[in-house]
Formats: sequence, structure tokens, C-alpha cells
Amino acid sequence: MPAKTLLIAACLLLPAMSQAEFRFAFDPDENRWQLSNGVIEANFQLGSDGTFQFQSLRGLTGQGTWNKADGNAASLIRLTVNRNVYNGRSRYRLVRQLTQPVERRGLRQSIVLIDENARLQFTLELTMYENQPVLEHRLLLHNLQPGTVYIQALDLLPWSFADELETFRTFRVNQWAVAPVAQNFEPFQDILDPDGPPVEVQAGSRGSHCSWFAVSDHLNRGLFAGWEFDGRADASIRHEGSTNALRLSAYITSMNHPLAEEGDVTLPAGFVGLYHGDWDEAGFRTQRFTEAAIAKAAPDPAIFPYVVWDSWGYQQKLNETILKRNAAAAAALGIELFVVDLGWSRMIGDWRDDPEKFPNGMRSISDYVHSLGMKFGMHFALAEASADAPVLQAHPDWTSTQSYGYFNASSLCLSNGETRDWVIKEAIRLIDDYNVDWILQDGEQMVKECTKTTHTHDSKDSNYANAVDGLNAVVGAVQKARPNISWENCADGGTMMTFNMVKQYVTSITNDASSDFGARQATYGATYVFPPRYIDRYMGNQEINKYTTRSFMFGGPWVFMNRLTELTAADQILAASEIATYKTVRATVRDAKVFHLAAPAMEGIDAIQSYNAAQRTALAVVTRNGGVETAYTLLLRGLDPEVAYRVTFQNSSRILIYSGLQLMRSGVPVPLPEIQSSEIVFATPLE
Ligand SMILES: [Zn+2]
Repeated sequence: MPAKTLLIAACLLLPAMSQAEFRFAFDPDENRWQLSNGVIEANFQLGSDGTFQFQSLRGLTGQGTWNKADGNAASLIRLTVNRNVYNGRSRYRLVRQLTQPVERRGLRQSIVLIDENARLQFTLELTMYENQPVLEHRLLLHNLQPGTVYIQALDLLPWSFADELETFRTFRVNQWAVAPVAQNFEPFQDILDPDGPPVEVQAGSRGSHCSWFAVSDHLNRGLFAGWEFDGRADASIRHEGSTNALRLSAYITSMNHPLAEEGDVTLPAGFVGLYHGDWDEAGFRTQRFTEAAIAKAAPDPAIFPYVVWDSWGYQQKLNETILKRNAAAAAALGIELFVVDLGWSRMIGDWRDDPEKFPNGMRSISDYVHSLGMKFGMHFALAEASADAPVLQAHPDWTSTQSYGYFNASSLCLSNGETRDWVIKEAIRLIDDYNVDWILQDGEQMVKECTKTTHTHDSKDSNYANAVDGLNAVVGAVQKARPNISWENCADGGTMMTFNMVKQYVTSITNDASSDFGARQATYGATYVFPPRYIDRYMGNQEINKYTTRSFMFGGPWVFMNRLTELTAADQILAASEIATYKTVRATVRDAKVFHLAAPAMEGIDAIQSYNAAQRTALAVVTRNGGVETAYTLLLRGLDPEVAYRVTFQNSSRILIYSGLQLMRSGVPVPLPEIQSSEIVFATPLE
């Protein structure tokens, strides 16, 4: 029967997508889906036995093929509801299926299934984006049973693949932490032992790792995976030699999410992408997908990441005179965003300006900052309140069970309905009253633990509720009401480095003001995972030199957190000149592939490089921290071997001409005779 093998193309090509080669096809006889965007292809089937199965994920541009493991059930449904497990062995019937274009040049396949006992309706959404080798997936549930049911477990990465007798390596990156162990975005590579334990990735707010990992075979064909959830989720990568399977999972920890009768819920998404190359390539593909498909758009693309001043150099001893003087100094240096940090309000949780510190009100500071041509930002610890704050005096039960001691404040439970509504109202009032362009969101552990039975959330659903229905709901509601305000994520450093964070914030702090060297370490590790504009760092140094400024040159935003009015005249000139340099390189780095050439070491020279394919230019920051080597042989990467490049330097006036091949094979010597010195190297095509 020809009809049996006929695939019906269900894709609509819209004008905006005319460049994309989307082809989403459904075979109604076999209940088989083949989804392709011209870069990757994914195959799924609802089998004759009623099980919904992943079949294969194929790279169409050399990334390799990942097949379902023989004899193993593999589904994109893996969850537990009211103690019933739904997975690749469960039976479903197809209700309907459809494709539709989604924002940001995506095409989405929706597959609507009902389980054999008609308890739940599952809508599996599979989305591809133009030119991105990534499949994003998420589940929507509709409760068909009488009464409320509880989602007790949810796997955000329910993938299993045939191992094809391969050997695998894995790669993951730490988050920032100060306790119990200090962490600063250290990357880890492991061999995946087929008889050994899984490699674990503990991600989400206050977890150990960024919510991402990559896996590679011995030919450097690999996959990367991430998940879009800010609460804790523990992922596992297991090579199970006995079944010849590579198994992934990322379970949300301690979930008990209620779903009312006839109720609906959209669960967090995960994504898997394919690549061919090294970890830099895995990161690059992840970052391009992030920017194209899910990240909050950067404000002012022409001048983002901003150069920023933040008032924390004065701690909480702020007043009108200090801020106005620093604003004038900041504008003179070329700073673009002026942020008033903790200490401006009457107390934590009472988000009205302090009348003693600001007799003319915070609005006068904001107006002054705007008159100088800068954006105005304010610190807002939305989930913290002092016991004396009016909000807690009136509503002492609004605290979460666990408090995290943010400047002696108590923590608020944002997933409690009344608390959430109050915080949303306060944020909007703050934005309007003080004409704010930028919110510096701070706090201690942004996803609070709360097991109170007096709150509107389920007492056993703290992690999910405080992430999705708490923090995310608050920020989402404020952003809906005031869409032009940019949000910066900070919770005492990069402690919530997730692919949900990128959806609500335009940047995130990585390293929290722990010196030049620490800033470079954070940059080096975090740029494996996140686009360079998410590498926000605070420069607290009161005395500066080029070693310091260059430590903040790659990525951004670059936040001055010192007392500008106390800089020496020479340092002011240096700062202005280095800020001017930063402005010439930031857009190049922001849109580039990052190459990790040499990690920061106390007794060594470190190097990080970008290659911007649109501009065809490379840039490297090479820094000697210590050690005895007085020069570094810079082997650039990603260049066109046959193109001639002009190589120039920020410090040295040397101009050299090399072929791309020479620059990649033999390199260019970068003299660094002094310890704690740094050079920027540029390679530009000759023509
Ligand atoms: Zn609560």
C-alpha cells in the first residue's frame, strides 16, 4: 500500500521562515513523526502496542546519529502522578496532533495522548528553531480524574540512546558557591565508565552545577543537554554497559505538585542538541540556541553588555551626595548604567527610599542619573524582609520555613499567593516611583524552602512551587506589567545558573567580587555554558591597573563596584581609556564562539579567545598571573587557514601579518615580561 509509506508533510512555511528547511511530517498509518529543520532530524512513534517511543535523533550536518537502545523503552514522558508511573512502557492513545509556528522562528509539533486508563491527557511539545541543532521538549498535563492529583516525580531529560559500543566522555561546569565548599565555575571532564556509577549534575538554585552537560564519543560526536528550571534538579548520565545504553535523566527534587480536576499545567522544558567537535563547540551550539530561542533579549543590542557602576563600594552607607558625585564621575568615565545597591531603602522589605539618606527622594537621584545620559538601576531583594519591616509586622506568617540570613533578614515565601501578590505590587511601584530601567535582583537562595501548611502552595512541593509559582511567577508578572525593564540575576553570586534563568534575566552575576583572578576563573568556566553576556562580574578594586581591567574585559557586563570619586587622577584616565577599549570589543565577543585556550593558574599565563564568524575577526585576552614564563605562544583557533590576517595588540604597537594556518599552527608570540600583566590580541582579515 503506497499510503502506508506516504509521509504527509504537515509543515507550513511562513515568509519569516523562508530560510529554514523545516519539514515536520506525520504518517497517520504508522503513527510516526519525523521532524527536521534541515540541521537535525528527530523520529518518534506511537507503536501498535500503544507505547510512545523515541526512535532516533540524527545530525544532518555531520553530528552523528543517536538511536533508541535495542529492547529498551525510551519515551519523552517520564513522571509519576498519584503513584502511577508514566514512561516508555505505558500505553497511550493518540487524541490529536498538530504543528504550529512559534515565536523566534520555531516550529512546534504537539502530540496529544491519553493514557490507557484515561487518567491524564499528555501534550508533548517538540520544538525546533531555524538552524539550531536542538530539540526542545516539554509536557503539558490535563487531569481527567476526579479530584486533585499530585505530580510526585518529573524527569526533564528522559532520554535513552543505544551506546553503539562507544566510549563516552562527559563535561559539566560548577556554579559559584562560598559554602559549604568554595566553587567558581570549575569545569570537569569524566570518562563514563560502562560498569561504573553515573556522573551526576546537581543543578538549580544553590546546587553545585550549571543546569547543563555535554557527552561526546571518541570521534567527538556529541550531544549537549540543558533544562529550564530554577529549582533543584539532579541529573544523571549513565553508560549502562549491560544493556548497551546511554541513559540521561534530570529529576526535579522532592516534588508534590497538585493538579486539580480538569486542571492544566505546563511543566518545565528540557532540550537536547547535537554537535561535532570539542567542548567549545558543544558550548557554542548551546549558546547560539540560547540566544536564538530562549534567552531574554539583550537591551540596547548596540551597547550591551553595559559598563556599569554599582554602589556597593560604600556598602550601605549611602546618601544623596555620595550617589550624585559618583554619578557625575561615572558619566565622565563612560559608564552607561548606574545601580544603587543595598542600603537605599528604609529597611530590607520596606522598599521605600530612606528619607534621612535621601531628603529629596530616590527619584531625584534617578532624574539626575538620566540627565547624565545613563540608565538607572536599583537593588531589590524581593524575597527578603527584616522582622521589623511593615510587611512582616502585618503578616508574620509570610516567611518561608527556612530563612537564609540575608543581612539578618527573614526570607519570604513567594509561592504563597498573598505574599506573591504583595511583592509584585511593590516591584511595580518601585519601578514607577523611581523611574527604574534595571532591577538588580538579589537575595540569599532564590528558591526558598517552605513546608508551611498555612500557605497556598502544597507543603510538600516547596522546590517546584517556590521556583515556578514563586520566583518565576513574580518576575514574570512584573515583566508583563513593565516589559521594558531589564533584570540582573544575583544571589550572592552565580548560584542559579540555569536555562530558565536566561529566560527572565538579561545577565547574571557569575563571580561575586572576589578579585581579578577569580573573575577570570569565572569567565573561563561559565563561557563553556552561557553566552558571554551572561558573564556579569563586579570589580571591587579601589586601585586599578591594566591587569585588573583586562580581567573584566571578556564577557560582561563589567560592573565597577568601587568609589569612583576616590580614584586617583591617573586611575580615572586609565579607567576611561579601558572602558573605551571594552566598548570596542564587547559586541564582537558577545556574538562570538569562545575558545578556551589556557585556564587561569596562579603561577601561569591564561588565555581566552573569541572568533566572530560574521566579522571574521578573532580576539584574545592573554594574562600572566605569575610564574616564570615571560611570553605566551598564542595559537588562535577557528580562523580560515587560507586568509591573511593583520595581527595587532592593545598594548604593543606591533603589526604582524600571518596566514590563518600560521596563526593556528605556529601561533604568535605575546610577550608578558611583568607578572600580573595582560595583553589583548586582535586578528583581522587583510582585505
Ligand atoms: Zn510557603
